[in-house]
Amino acid sequence: MFYSDYHIHSRFSGDCNEDLDEIIKKSIGLGLREIAITDHFEKDMINLSKEWDIDLNKYSEEILRLKEKYRKDIDIKLGLEVGIQYQTIDFFEKELKKYPLDFVIASSHGINRYDLSVGVLQEGKTRDEMQDLYFRTVLKNVENYKKFNVYGHLDFVTRYGGAKFRGMNIENHMDVIEKILKGLIDKGKGIEINTSGYRYGENRVYPDFDIIKKYFDLGGEIITIGSDSHRKDDITKDFKVAYEILEKLGVKYISSFEKMEPSFIKIK
Ligand SMILES: [Zn+2]
Ligand SMILES: [Zn+2]
Repeated sequence: MFYSDYHIHSRFSGDCNEDLDEIIKKSIGLGLREIAITDHFEKDMINLSKEWDIDLNKYSEEILRLKEKYRKDIDIKLGLEVGIQYQTIDFFEKELKKYPLDFVIASSHGINRYDLSVGVLQEGKTRDEMQDLYFRTVLKNVENYKKFNVYGHLDFVTRYGGAKFRGMNIENHMDVIEKILKGLIDKGKGIEINTSGYRYGENRVYPDFDIIKKYFDLGGEIITIGSDSHRKDDITKDFKVAYEILEKLGVKYISSFEKMEPSFIKIK
C-alpha cells in the first residue's frame, strides 16, 4: 500500500472533469493516508481557453470543506500546480499569499507564453536546442521564484513536439540540470517523481533516474511522488516503479507537507 499521492487534478483544472468526492473515495479505497489536490493555475498563456481560469476562492473553500468532511479517513492537502513563467513570478508570489496552501508544485508548462504542447516552441529547433531552452528556462524560474515546494515533472520537455523531440541525451544538459538541482537544494525545495510518463508513452517517470540520483547525490532531501492523474483510475498508477527507484538509491523518506512546511515520512 502507498502512503500518499501528491499530484492529483480535479474538475477545477481546465483539462480535467473528475469529481472531487470520487477522487477522495478512490484514494481512501486505495488505503492512502494523504493526498494533495494540485489543480492547474496558469497565467499569461496564449493558447489556453477560458476553461483554464481557476476561481481560487471557490477552489480553496471546496478543498477545505472536503478536508474537514473526510478528516477521519484521509488527510487532504490544499495544493496547486503553478505554471510558472519568468514574467509571471511576481503575480504568482502575490496571488498565492491569499490562500492557506499546504503544497505547491511549480511546473514549466509554457515558455514565452506558449504551451510546450502546441508546437510553436519546437519550430526550427533541434531536440538538443529545445531541451536547452527548456532547462535554461527552468533554471531561471528556480533562481527567481520562491512560492513552491517541488518542481514538477522536471524533464517532461521530451513529451511534446513529436518523435523527433523524444528521448534525451542527459550528458548534453547535465551542467544546467546540476545548477537547477543545486538551486532547488539551496532554497530548501524538492523534486517530484511524476509517474505520468508511462501514460504518455515514454516508458519512464519524470524526471529520469539519473536526475533523481543527482538530486540526492548533491544533498537533496525533499521528494514527493505524484501520479498527475486527471482521472481517478490513474491515482497511484505506476507508483511501484517510483518506490523501486527510491529503494535503489537508498532513499528512506518521502515528504509530506502542511502549510508549505515539509516533514518526512519513513518509507515502509
Ligand atoms: Zn504539469
Ligand atoms: Zn499536473
